Amino acid sequence: MQVYNTLTRQKETLKPIQAKKVKIYSCGPTVYDFPHIGNLRAFIFADTLSRALSFLDFEVAHVMNITDVGHLVSDEDEGEDKMEKAAKREKKDPYEIARYYEDVFKENLKELNIKTPNWMPRATEHIEEQIKMIEQLFENGYAYITDDGIYYDVSRFEDYGKLSGQKLEDKEAGSRIEIKDQKRNPEDFALWKFLVGENKNHIMHWKSPWGEGFPGWHIECSAMGMKYLGETFDIHTGGIDHIPVHHENEIAQSEGVTGKKFVNYWMHNNFLQVDGGKMSKSLGNFYTLQNILDKGFSALDYRYFCLNAHYRSKLNFTWEGLQSAHNGYKNLKEKIQELHNKNVQQGKSLKQENKYLLQFEKSISDDLNTSQALAILWESIKDQNLSNSQQLSLIQEFDQVLGLELMQEKEDIPAEIQKLAVKREKMRREKKWEESDKLRSLISEKGYEIKDIAEGFEIKKK
Ligand code: AMP
Ligand code: ZN
Repeated sequence: MQVYNTLTRQKETLKPIQAKKVKIYSCGPTVYDFPHIGNLRAFIFADTLSRALSFLDFEVAHVMNITDVGHLVSDEDEGEDKMEKAAKREKKDPYEIARYYEDVFKENLKELNIKTPNWMPRATEHIEEQIKMIEQLFENGYAYITDDGIYYDVSRFEDYGKLSGQKLEDKEAGSRIEIKDQKRNPEDFALWKFLVGENKNHIMHWKSPWGEGFPGWHIECSAMGMKYLGETFDIHTGGIDHIPVHHENEIAQSEGVTGKKFVNYWMHNNFLQVDGGKMSKSLGNFYTLQNILDKGFSALDYRYFCLNAHYRSKLNFTWEGLQSAHNGYKNLKEKIQELHNKNVQQGKSLKQENKYLLQFEKSISDDLNTSQALAILWESIKDQNLSNSQQLSLIQEFDQVLGLELMQEKEDIPAEIQKLAVKREKMRREKKWEESDKLRSLISEKGYEIKDIAEGFEIKKK
């Protein structure tokens, strides 16, 4: 598989550290508000990547963190903590806020048919690991203490800026950030904040060797990434907004601790824009999944909308655009319904079936070209040289990556039974009688009867 690596600014062949096993870390949600549909684009991308890798026979180990410690509002580690702000707004405890929005987020994932990652660790449950890293950074000479917290000295990390391609000197020359208080360099960032000044009454805080406080917002991803995936792992994902600060800082912290490369491939999704600009509450164009559902669209309409664009392209959200995705998706499902209803065997060109499978594999292997993959799906559905059971079997394969629940159309017959029936049909066509009989018995055990007819098969409830 070829992937575009932000670190090297080029497409590269993915070579996992362990053959056939890919370890992925995705920056997860900050749970102090509803995720907006831009955030959800980032998670649809991470899910599609993980599905594509599984499809290509890689074993995937996927971590997505839950940021339940509040971030300070600005990248300069100042301002109000977003979690505490939400707690005040909703008159609740910050933990109540965090758990509530975490549940909302997980519900959104389900609706979008996003597979649950193998681990979804919470930052508040990994404070010890974060403290250990900071201790190690002190030992290795990267951390220093000021009156309001512990900071990372970016000038000590030679490679600082390697992800965004910005040298520290260039950054500073053009920068108008003042060096605040006791910070040594403008880009130095907080590893740990003390309960002083504006953070005096910070509600979420923990004991540390340096006194009560709370972690800075980058350290959690380094700590949890390494805990679950090891000191060096394969892929890290997130939105492009994370490149210049958050991910640069994750690299500086992790490599500062281990002296080893943190991540081999950095993959970033571009922004979802609204009406050509930024989505923001003040502009009234900030949408959640619920807003989409309230207008009568489905979550999978939105997934289809996202898959129609390449993850590295900007994607402009308009209601007309979503409407046309809705029409396309509806059309697709209607065509599939027809295939289910007919079960007519024509064409039967095995060569042609394999051609589509190969083309599909090729497009997703090309840095996850999902719009091309969808075009191949459409082409295969229209191809008269394929029997409709061949078409259904291709759709079933493709949907492992697309995640559009394409086989869940036929009313009355559950998707699981349909899938088994299509699989059995495939076995039968390949004259694998034993497997085909086994599947028939399994379908029967589940309460359905499969009948072979001249044109294909029929499923009935027993
Ligand atoms: P956050 O909860 O703010 O940490 O964001 C979660 C993920 O959404 C991160 O990977 C962000 O980079 C990504 N993200 C934020 N805004 C957008 C957007 N408008 N379009 C696409 N991804 C976004
Ligand atoms: Zn992160």
